[in-house]
Amino acid sequence: MIDVIYVEREAWDYPRTREIVARFDGARVIDCERHGELFNRAAQNFRLQKQRPALMLAVKHGRKVLPVPSGYGLEDAPGYYFSHMLNCVYDCRYCFLQGMYRSANYVVFVNDQDFIDEIRRHAAMRDAPVWFFSGYDCDSLALEPVTGFVDGLLPTFADLENARLELRTKSTQTRALHRRDPLDNVVVAFSFTTVPAGEALEHKVPDIARRIDAMAALQARGWRVGVRFDPVIYHEGFEDAFASLCERIFAKIDGAALHSACIGAFRLPRDFFKRMRRLYPRERLFASHLSDADGMVGYPRELERALLDGARRRVSEYVAEDAIHCMDGGA
Ligand code: SF4
Repeated sequence: MIDVIYVEREAWDYPRTREIVARFDGARVIDCERHGELFNRAAQNFRLQKQRPALMLAVKHGRKVLPVPSGYGLEDAPGYYFSHMLNCVYDCRYCFLQGMYRSANYVVFVNDQDFIDEIRRHAAMRDAPVWFFSGYDCDSLALEPVTGFVDGLLPTFADLENARLELRTKSTQTRALHRRDPLDNVVVAFSFTTVPAGEALEHKVPDIARRIDAMAALQARGWRVGVRFDPVIYHEGFEDAFASLCERIFAKIDGAALHSACIGAFRLPRDFFKRMRRLYPRERLFASHLSDADGMVGYPRELERALLDGARRRVSEYVAEDAIHCMDGGA
């Protein structure tokens, strides 16, 4: 899976680096000063790299925990996000990471404890609830067997009463959660699109049935789970396909016990969109139904409203209204 591993010299000081390198026995290991010099280099081809990404082990400097962008999050409580990894092992055509980064290589930050310390500091600054979102610049769990990040993070949330954690994922790598007692302040949020959208646009993603089974197993074990329909992708026959997706999910998931269901529009900054269209000029998603307004590309307002309202109505057949959140934008 990984042929080349770049290691920042400083990253060798962290035990996680040696553990990860040892997992990829045959990989070529190349030392580097700073991952950014390679990761941000101009004239890289994201699409080509995506076929055989290298792994970069790095130390995250500066702020590790950042306020969530507007439109992201669950409720009025302040929210922060963090990314222990950049890029994703999956390959969704609508993913904004393709527009954001020049490189498809995976960056894994090995200074886990610095992330944890910063989360603790932010939680300690408030008495009221505060959310921390993982899975903004990556999938929260897809590479967990390699990074072990979530496994090390969970005990922190066991003793932070006001902190809430969302692990957003399309992965079925849930072993770290099954190994521990469920925590009431942690939500594992699984993302779904309809079958036609998934087949056309989500490559390498575990199929819907496996994701539902993983979610059901966590719910049965006592973990709080959520569903994310974000972004909602329009296609012919969307309404029926969305109805059947909900039917499949809530045949196995107890909607009444669901933590939350979030529904988000497909919307991207114009520059990201342009870069993504250059990567996949023949992709139908980028060729139809979209409009460009105020620097953002998405569905025209009326279509977006109709999609979100229709999805909300359908989800509300299974989930209490106050657990449903409709959001503009997202990935
Ligand atoms: S949309 Fe999510 S699962 Fe898909 S490639 Fe992007 S980060 Fe990964």
